Amino acid sequence: MQTFAIGVDLGGTNLRIAAVDDSGKLLEKLTLGTEVKRGRDLVIKDMCDAIEQVRTRYKGTGTLSGIGVGVPGFIDMATGMVMRSPNLADWTNFPVRDVIQQQLGTPVILENDANVAAMGEKWLGAGRGVEHMGMYTLGTGVGGGLVFHGRLWHGMTGMAGELGHFNIFPDGHPCGCGSRGCLEQYASATAIVRMAREAIERKEGSPELERLAPDPVQFTSRSLYNLAVQGDASAKRIFETVGFALGIGIGGMVNALNLPMYVIGGGVASSWDAFAPAMFKELNFRSSIYALTSPEQKEFAQSTIITRALLGSDAGLYGAARLPMLENFTQMEKSRTLA
Ligand SMILES: [Zn+2]
Repeated sequence: MQTFAIGVDLGGTNLRIAAVDDSGKLLEKLTLGTEVKRGRDLVIKDMCDAIEQVRTRYKGTGTLSGIGVGVPGFIDMATGMVMRSPNLADWTNFPVRDVIQQQLGTPVILENDANVAAMGEKWLGAGRGVEHMGMYTLGTGVGGGLVFHGRLWHGMTGMAGELGHFNIFPDGHPCGCGSRGCLEQYASATAIVRMAREAIERKEGSPELERLAPDPVQFTSRSLYNLAVQGDASAKRIFETVGFALGIGIGGMVNALNLPMYVIGGGVASSWDAFAPAMFKELNFRSSIYALTSPEQKEFAQSTIITRALLGSDAGLYGAARLPMLENFTQMEKSRTLA
């Protein structure tokens, strides 16, 4: 009989649920819309109904090792409370874990959405071969996750790994976190669109940029990337800023942690060729540790690898499913030590 886990990835627009076996094989994936507007109680009810549906379907064929749930926001790991969530306004100070557990009648593991993405890449993606890694998720915001010794690094209260709020410009653009000039304000999809509008306001936008601007459906980080690869100078400058900001942010992490790998995922990662040259240039400048250990150097047996994520939007689902599996390993290790 196989062992499987259920992973849940709750985003601002989608609620996704997957059953994954302990070798990483995807058994089933469900995608539901997240109707955040209808309020958290209905979102949680939809989530629990879908989990129940998957759990029932595989009851006879395997053993459920647990349920992992990734949600956006700051989470207090001890209490399972969402302390603050930018996309889910009415979830602030809400005991999400307890409410889900009550509805399902079984324990669940609650985790930050960027952390589950990091765990997914560690398990089955770019970080498969390493024990320690940092991950940046460049989406609507910039999320982060740290994996040390194969496990997520939570810090004191569970809020570690907020790499998107690493400061780039002390007096820069105001950030949702209350600070200014955070990485998120220069390397997220939202920031790319904002920087393009700012370029137009400064009269530095090309005619193509100005032509796209009035239509918010057309004026996206993706269409700006397309302009950049076609050689549009004003679009190229925006992605150079993305790379510059990432170079400073990652450079700081390399200096602090000297990890073997930093993985960049999220929708903006697909613009890699537009921002990566500026990112690597800045990294070499800001971090002498990176300059010494980059793959071009042959001084050390290992290099600092900075690479694209491999699992796309499924990283969080796999990572969430992985959490109960790791919890069970830890319990097995503990009981072995006690015996
Ligand atoms: Zn911030």
